[in-house]
Amino acid sequence: TAKILDGKALAAKIQQELADTITASQPKIGRPPGLAVLMVGDNPASAAYVKNKEKACAKVGIASFGRHFPTQTSQSELEAVIEELNQDERVDGILVQLPLPKHLDAISLLHKIAPDKDADGLHPVNLGRLVRDEPGLRSCTPAGVMRLLEEYKIPLMGKQAVVVGRSILVGKPMALMLLAANATVTIAHSRTQDLKTITQNADILVAAAGIPGLITAEMVKPGAVVVDVGINRVTDSNGKSRLIGDIDFTTIADVAEYITPVPGGIGPMTVAILLQNTVFSYLQTNSN
Ligand code: NAD
Repeated sequence: TAKILDGKALAAKIQQELADTITASQPKIGRPPGLAVLMVGDNPASAAYVKNKEKACAKVGIASFGRHFPTQTSQSELEAVIEELNQDERVDGILVQLPLPKHLDAISLLHKIAPDKDADGLHPVNLGRLVRDEPGLRSCTPAGVMRLLEEYKIPLMGKQAVVVGRSILVGKPMALMLLAANATVTIAHSRTQDLKTITQNADILVAAAGIPGLITAEMVKPGAVVVDVGINRVTDSNGKSRLIGDIDFTTIADVAEYITPVPGGIGPMTVAILLQNTVFSYLQTNSN
């Protein structure tokens, strides 16, 4: 049966390291790192994510400058807030919690964030740096996957990697990071024909489609490393709501060599990398 890639444990370790770094740097720099999480509206899932991020910040010693805006907030009000946070020397990271209410243009808001404060790594400058293999702030979820694979010394060079999903948030940057690690990368998506023949070749399979149970055991190569990015809320037969990923965990655990659980896999890694990005910007800004 597959070994667990324990994202929860690694995230805790990273957070401890970040807390130590902050304790050591803060006397020299004269302030803690700061992260501003902007949330608009009342999406309950977003609210839970934001609360989680702020709790994690508090735990490692990052100051939160988050703000919660009513649904009807205008584009120009939010742009003004981002501009203000760009100038605020106490703030090292800014992130806009997605999705935004429909009347708002998320892309143009993300473009307003100063690239060096772009804690989510979604600004075109940072995406460009990723494409060019230059250092920069990386998208948290795929960077979290890479860090977890690294921790377990999973070889990537020359391996067949398949990413299921092509979003700008997860799939595309994931594929680029695996490519930078010298894997041979295939991206599957909603228009892919015969997904199973493609996933069956994967030494490393990353599922990021947002479809519960999309990946079943017969789609997985024996001995593969299976990473489940999906987070889907489902109601089971006795009416209880719970979170599951994109993979059929129980049956895949019998064929894979390594597997990530949901929850406790990539979710906590994503938060850990967000904090790491914030601390990276903090140290960069104050390095001379
Ligand atoms: P998205 O909806 O933007 O993208 C989904 C992608 O899956 C699309 O590119 C689409 O082409 C592809 N897809 C859809 N149906 C498919 C199918 N039948 N076969 C193959 N590909 C298909 O979603 P996203 O933002 O990329 O997120 C994906 C999942 O990851 C969601 O469940 C989301 O909740 C989760 N997520 C988790 C974290 C985390 O911290 N663990 C972070 C971000 C997103």
